[in-house]
Amino acid sequence: MIDHGAWKALDDALDRWAAVGRRAKLWLRDDDAIEPTTALDRLLGLTTAHSIPLTLAVIPAPTGTELAERLAAEAGLSVAIHGWSHKNHAPIGEKKQELGSHRPAETVLGELRQGHDRLRELYPQQFVPMLVPPWNRIDAPLVPALAGCGFSCLSVYGPIKTTSPMPLINTHVDIMDWHGTGGGHDHGELVSGLIGELQRRFDGDPEPVGVLTHHLVHDKTAWEFVERLLRATSGHPAVEWFSVADMLPGRPG
Ligand SMILES: [Zn+2]
Repeated sequence: MIDHGAWKALDDALDRWAAVGRRAKLWLRDDDAIEPTTALDRLLGLTTAHSIPLTLAVIPAPTGTELAERLAAEAGLSVAIHGWSHKNHAPIGEKKQELGSHRPAETVLGELRQGHDRLRELYPQQFVPMLVPPWNRIDAPLVPALAGCGFSCLSVYGPIKTTSPMPLINTHVDIMDWHGTGGGHDHGELVSGLIGELQRRFDGDPEPVGVLTHHLVHDKTAWEFVERLLRATSGHPAVEWFSVADMLPGRPG
């Protein structure tokens, strides 16, 4: 059910910021694409209808030309590298990780290089050299070697707290309630989280706010959130939705 009070709070906050000429940068990342699906069509339908640039984190090992052909004509779409096969190598009881310390570094980096090259070939126009580690986790000692595998930025979850050898473009609002219902988070919680993130930007934090979605597992609550968020923010003078291609290190913006 749509929480009209929560959404009114976002509309009001955005209007207040617009009234004083403030503008925040947002970007949208969606993970786990392998092949064309009706869920992916639905997401692309929403981003296209609202002219919102989308970064799709594609899993290199199992994907192929079918998805590339489906996406080729999508305007405003960037394709990032979502690990290699999204396989968990951590033992039971540990947090899931594909890019952890459980295997030799050269094995993990070899897969990442392969994933980078595979997607660059499949997406000559839409490819961005951004690594999105599965489960948003990567063993820190691997990070300095990423540039040698072709990557120019990394995207995980949460505010940037430390300096990183690889530039970070992170996400901050994950719409899925992974540890609770498994569906979309309550809109009220998400909207207040988003308002908090936006407030920090207006207070001077320069990080763009990243919104994280997972089209394959969205329930009604999650889809409604995406739809309502895009409607509230698209074209709003207090918000600028960015294409990650324009935020990459070395690019203007
Ligand atoms: Zn994933």
